[in-house]
Order: sequence, then C-alpha cells, then structure tokens
Amino acid sequence: MVHMKRALITGISGQDGSYLAELLYKKGYEIHGIVRHTSNGAPQHLVNLQAIDSIVTLHEVSLDNGEALKSIVSSVKPDECYHLAASSFVSYGFADESALLNANFNLTHSILSALREASPGCRFYFAGSSEMFGYALEAPQNEQTTFRPRSLYGIAKLASYHLVNNYRLRYNMFASTGILYNHESPRRSFEFVTRKVTSTVAKIKTGKRDSIVMGNIDAVRDWGYAPDYVEAMWMMMQAEKGDDYVVATGVIHSVQELLECAFSVVGLHYQDYLKIDQEFYRESESVSLCGDSTKIRTQLGWKPTKTFEEIIQEMVEADLILES
Ligand code: GDP
Repeated sequence: MVHMKRALITGISGQDGSYLAELLYKKGYEIHGIVRHTSNGAPQHLVNLQAIDSIVTLHEVSLDNGEALKSIVSSVKPDECYHLAASSFVSYGFADESALLNANFNLTHSILSALREASPGCRFYFAGSSEMFGYALEAPQNEQTTFRPRSLYGIAKLASYHLVNNYRLRYNMFASTGILYNHESPRRSFEFVTRKVTSTVAKIKTGKRDSIVMGNIDAVRDWGYAPDYVEAMWMMMQAEKGDDYVVATGVIHSVQELLECAFSVVGLHYQDYLKIDQEFYRESESVSLCGDSTKIRTQLGWKPTKTFEEIIQEMVEADLILES
C-alpha cells in the first residue's frame, strides 16, 4: 500500500498555513493543523479556515502545552511538520514584548522538543523572515549575509533559526529554515500594507471611502506571491537534507508604486485620494531588504510565478468582489 504522507501545520489559519494546506492536499497528504481556538481569531483567519475546513483535521491546543503537543505528535505521526505560527511584529506593540518572544521563540522550542521525543524522523520546517537581516549591511541578502535584526520580532526569529540549526546538528533531525521575504495574496491580513491598500481601493471604488491614509510611501519591499512561497516550503522538505534557503523575488518596489498599481486596476489615480499620517510612518531602511534566492532556484528549482503587478491586480479584484 502506498504510504499517505501526513503533515502537521502550526499557524494553519494564517495566509501561508491555508495555502500550504491546499497545496499539500493536492499532493495527496493527510493534513493536521494546530490552532489555539477555532471559534475566535482575526476575521481574515476565520475566512482562511473556512477555505480549508473540509480538507484538514484541526487540533485545538496551545503550543506552550508541551505534554498536549507530544500527545498530538504521537497520535498524528507526521512525516513533515511546518511551524508557521508566529506573532508578527506589526500587530504587537511595546507592551507585548514578552508575548512576542514567547510566540516566536519559546514555541519553536516547544514544538521541536515535542517532535524530537515523539517523532524524531519527522521533517521540520521553520518560517524564518527577512527581518532577521534587519539593518543589513549589503543588498541583496543571501544565506551568507550577516544577520543584524532590528526588531524584537527579528531577534526572536533569529534565535529560533539558531535553535533549528542546533537540532539539525545535535540531534541529526531534518530541520530547515526558509528565510522568507514579504509575500502577499488575497488572504493577507489587513494590517499589512498591500492588503490595506487593495482593500481600501476596493472601498473607494465602491463608494464606501473617499481617501487612503498612509505612512512612508518611499519605503520599499521585496514582495512575492504567497502561493509560490508555500511551494518553496514544500520543496525544502523534499530536499536531500535540512538546510536554510532565502525565498524572495529579488525585485523591490516602493509603497508609492504599490499605490499607483492598485489604483490603476480600478482606473483611478492615487494622488486624488492619498493622505499621509505620521501614525503609520516608519523610517526607510538605509539598505533595502531585497533577497537573493539563487540557492533555492539552482538547488531545488524554485521560481516565482507572478509579477508584482499581477499579485496586486489579483488582490484588488478579490477585494472588489468582497465589497460589491
Ligand atoms: P513589514 O513591515 O515588512 O512587515 O510589512 P508591511 O506590509 O507592514 O509594511 C511594508 C512597508 O510599508 C513598511 O516599510 C512601512 O513603512 C510601509 N508603509 C507605508 N505606509 C504604511 C501603512 O499605512 N501601513 C503599513 N503597514 N505599512 C506602511
């Protein structure tokens, strides 16, 4: 009998978790997800969960409950575990620093140690971030670039990255970190700048809003397409050994270009609607975060399938359907 692969995903209600579940389902996996609560959560997360409801088995448990985690791991016996659960630094303020450290470091330790005890043969993926490069000294960044995190989020992600390396070396586990740059889609949460812009454009077009209030529109990002990035995660888990890979497009665009692009999809000019407010303002980086993904392209054959313009167009069109 052919072995049906089993995957365990933390953070399954997020943008990436829901796309990954769909990808693995198409590939014939049995999919298990860990969620804190199925009944409450960010509105976008509930939408994401609805999309995958029929293809996943959800386990309601807190990731800091080591014993409960071990028992889930023992019963599921996953072949691959994707640890995507995280607190993003944009949604957490100064007061929540220890919660942020807990979510982005302690919980990585919690799940790694549960796997080591209950399912040591399971392959492990950790969702690293371009924020680990932070105040980078050079652009583009690759796997050899010095990490200089500038936020607690980046620091916690970097600590988890070292922990993953340590498990690979000390316990011989197949464990990989994807150092992912920003990746967007119609399932992106609303606090991120792309979704903020595409949802507001849809509201303006349908007469529900008459302006858009932004921060630093000179800021640049290396924006990719979330479904491409979950494909990269899966490819990493099929490689010969655990390793680290930068996943990025290598192309940067500014927030101003994002505005131009999103408004042009509905035939409007952003200049007619834009207001700037210091509330949303963050300084631009002196060296841009722009990824060099040569390693995953050459070693695993990954490549992005959509341009920036195509991603933004898809997001605006999806938001127009939601608003109409
Ligand atoms: P992240 O900062 O890379 O996690 O992603 P975001 O999507 O939150 O922001 C990307 C960039 O957009 C940052 O450099 C912000 O300074 C810039 N930006 C400009 N205006 C806004 C805004 O109104 N909201 C957000 N979230 N970002 C903004």
